[in-house]
Amino acid sequence: MSEPVTGVRALLRPDLQGRTPYGAPQLDVPVALNTNESSYPVPDAVVQTIVERVGEVAASLNRYPDREFTRLRTELAAYLTRTTGPVLSADQLWAGNGSNEVLSHLVQAFGGPGRTALGFTPSYSMHPIITRSLGTEWVDGLRGSADGLFDLDVDRAVEQARTTDPNLVFLTSPNNPTGTALSLDVVAAVYDAAPHAVIVVDEAYAEFARPGTPSATTLLAGRDRLVVTRTMSKAFAFAGVRLGYLAADAQLTELLRLVRLPYHLSAVTQAVALAALEHADLMLGMVEAIKTERDRLVDGALSLGLRPVPSDANFVLVGGFVDAPRTWQALLEEGVLVRDVGIPHHLRITAGTPQETDAVLAALASVGGSDREEQVR
Ligand SMILES: *Cc1c(COP(=O)(O)O)cnc(C)c1O
Repeated sequence: MSEPVTGVRALLRPDLQGRTPYGAPQLDVPVALNTNESSYPVPDAVVQTIVERVGEVAASLNRYPDREFTRLRTELAAYLTRTTGPVLSADQLWAGNGSNEVLSHLVQAFGGPGRTALGFTPSYSMHPIITRSLGTEWVDGLRGSADGLFDLDVDRAVEQARTTDPNLVFLTSPNNPTGTALSLDVVAAVYDAAPHAVIVVDEAYAEFARPGTPSATTLLAGRDRLVVTRTMSKAFAFAGVRLGYLAADAQLTELLRLVRLPYHLSAVTQAVALAALEHADLMLGMVEAIKTERDRLVDGALSLGLRPVPSDANFVLVGGFVDAPRTWQALLEEGVLVRDVGIPHHLRITAGTPQETDAVLAALASVGGSDREEQVR
């Protein structure tokens, strides 16, 4: 029997009783490869522009910021147009303090009590947490994995979308924690199979995708229930700023104004994000280098007898551990922090600098723990 809930805990909303908060460990270790941040600092030239722009707004911080963050929406639209193809306008853009806030605006507007959101597990742990915290029912759909690669094929996705008939669907491409991008056929088919749903494609890692992986922004025209979310936290190397955004039909973004808190994007956040967008090429300058390290992680894991999942992201999900939590602990004792995402026999490793790749591969070799090794013994 569990302890009776007493004190202020007894006052908590019943549907939140017993839930656990998001909690990736924040530990001070030499090699931190557990939250898919960039290991590279913000370039000096960008730091200078940031300091200038913050200086310019500092004296007017007595006033509320531009509630419509119009310049920022304009620049984000230009960035997506330039990098993904279709011409997008400022009124199709929306932003928040991290894409997590943008996702919560979507659930606030289109979910809620009596409504349902569908996602395909394993995927980003915040999708169900945000959904449930807003009183929306979460349906844990499944990815196909006969091959152990966690792919989501059209038939499997469509069938689950039809039977659930949800109000929201979360698709993550490239998927976290598995790393692989989703075919746009799946997005288009799920859109048609869930006619009452807003379809959210979470593209937090899109800039790292292998060549020839189009963005779901190319599907936006003519699909007014489709949303593509992005973030500056990963490829932009700007996780500390908290800036996420989305592109969708202008009528959909208009509805998000019903749920946002007034002036949700501070003047400092807007100024800093604009400074980074001015230097988008510099900010994205390490993406190719990180992709190289990702591919080295895949090759290195393979040669250690482990089973890495193909990755379009800045991390690799590595399978083939006898006891993943034990290996996670052993790596930590070597000063290497990776992520145990709760998938048996798997650990997720962020791609960082060449030195970090060397360190994590050396640590993996020294702690052992692959199941192929075990078979040899
Ligand atoms: C890291 C991540 C995000 C980013 O969240 P922010 O709030 O923008 O930092 C969003 N979606 C997925 C799938 C992620 O892995």
